[in-house]
Amino acid sequence: MPTRVPGPAPVFIAGRLWLDFVNTDDARLGQRVDLLATFSAFVEWLAAAQVIDPDRASVLRRRAVEQPSGAAAALVEAQRIRALLRQLADQGRDARGALTRAHVVEELNRVLGRSVGTRRVDLTPEGGYARSFVPVGDAFGGLVIPIVESAVDSLVRGELGKLRGCSDRRCPRYFADDTKNGKRRWCEMKTCGNRAKAKRHRQKAVP
Ligand SMILES: [Zn+2]
Repeated sequence: MPTRVPGPAPVFIAGRLWLDFVNTDDARLGQRVDLLATFSAFVEWLAAAQVIDPDRASVLRRRAVEQPSGAAAALVEAQRIRALLRQLADQGRDARGALTRAHVVEELNRVLGRSVGTRRVDLTPEGGYARSFVPVGDAFGGLVIPIVESAVDSLVRGELGKLRGCSDRRCPRYFADDTKNGKRRWCEMKTCGNRAKAKRHRQKAVP
């Protein structure tokens, strides 16, 4: 068995699946980190996000060994969708984003139009419910569908005004601000929020 070098752990802080997906193109300690660098990293992320269960993850890993070109194409498609969704998070927030939104919607429909599969709702071990999409046919087709559907949910609910980029300009993360006062500024308190707090503290300490 080859040793598996663990990549950086995925972070789920955005409050929406599609924004967490956008945030897989991340930066940590000033270094760019791509959590979708390989197909197997993409599968890891989908499993960590509970979009697929562990059984499906192992089936996908096996298929990827048998059909490397199919897996590579699915990865390219996932990265393309991620770039598209970043545009939506970025420019969808203001009125000038109308053209971007129209373009993104067209692309989202292209992905949704290609999907053939079954939608399910299942009980989770924690006692909640999880929606899933089980594609038929091509094992790799449809992996991005739950992500795209989460973006569609945000569009339909009119949530684009709630989307924020982290207030630390070096941080590329997005999140949905679900706070009552709409004043969430940081992707996470334990990273960017605390860094800013420590900086303010240091500035105060200087006489
Ligand atoms: Zn941040």
